Amino acid sequence: RHNSQGDGNFLEDESTKNFARKVADHYSARSNQTLEEREASPIIHLKKLNNWIKSVLIQLYARRGDAVLDLACGKGGDLIKWDKAKIGYYVGIDIAEGSASIFMTWYQSLSGLSLGFLRRSRFRPAGLKREGIKDCRTRYNGDADHHQRRKKFSFPARLLCGDCYEVRLDKVLADDAPFDICSCQFALHYSWSTEARARRALANVSALLRPGGIFIGTMPDANVIIKKLREAEGLTFGNSVYWIRFDEEYSDKKFKASNPFGIEYTFHLEDAVDCPEWIVPFHVFKSLAEEYDFELVFAKNSHEFVHEYMKRPEFVELMRRLGALGDGNQDQGNPLYLCYFNFI
Ligand code: SAM
Repeated sequence: RHNSQGDGNFLEDESTKNFARKVADHYSARSNQTLEEREASPIIHLKKLNNWIKSVLIQLYARRGDAVLDLACGKGGDLIKWDKAKIGYYVGIDIAEGSASIFMTWYQSLSGLSLGFLRRSRFRPAGLKREGIKDCRTRYNGDADHHQRRKKFSFPARLLCGDCYEVRLDKVLADDAPFDICSCQFALHYSWSTEARARRALANVSALLRPGGIFIGTMPDANVIIKKLREAEGLTFGNSVYWIRFDEEYSDKKFKASNPFGIEYTFHLEDAVDCPEWIVPFHVFKSLAEEYDFELVFAKNSHEFVHEYMKRPEFVELMRRLGALGDGNQDQGNPLYLCYFNFI
């Protein structure tokens, strides 16, 4: 349906852009929480665990001085992790204006922002408050009620608002590339609404990473989601903190191998997410990635990941410091998959 054109552009259609807008609107509308709100969140443990996973990935693969590309970077929750890894340069891109606004205030004095690629008018959610700048100032100034202390980062950064799965980033970031490491945390599955977008995501990363550069990411585990769907009575399943709902279109719970893109479900995660997402069949993803010169180094479910890295004392200590250790409630049913790729 969405084939590559000769010039390296992929054909897109309006419905795809509407989907992307839905996702953007959802994330733009979310504002930062106070420490109290955060600690009272029904998914606080999951958030801490996810932070541990990202910290471990970053500690394992980032090297001092690395140039980092953070696709779908969100509200900057990982900046401190990158800072600890002593990276040399950071470029973050997110489609949600709220998220990107935060970054702009933080960083505009450090680096020139490429405003030409902001999608403000298209992606501004109608009738929503512009919380981004306010949240950012709170963070930056270290409001007493807020968990973020004032923080100066040791690396220069460039922050952009845009659709990473539509825009040709090699053109936008021609002066910033090549990158040593590309990270896409909890967001790559938003590119699987169409083949064109999935290809654009991979083409972007491939074009911007240096040979031998690392691509790390996390996304939902499609195997777990489909298994749970098949075990469920209807088309909805979940637990006390999340639910996933498939459309009637999938009432036979079968998915055509001939069209592995655009398999949509609604994901609701208490206090965090409520928007359309797409299944990423891992074997298809792996072979598509190979077309863009990626070699899979490993893919692990989060449970396997925790099991493996909790054997290392430094990561046990990290889990303890993050407050994620010890209440025996590490599985809140979050169907995550971790994978990273080594570009050759
Ligand atoms: N990576 C961040 C983290 O780990 O905290 C944010 C993860 S959040 C679950 C998903 C992010 O993906 C949101 O900030 C959302 O705006 C972003 N996103 C979704 N689709 C996108 C797209 N097409 N281009 C850029 N960002 C996108």
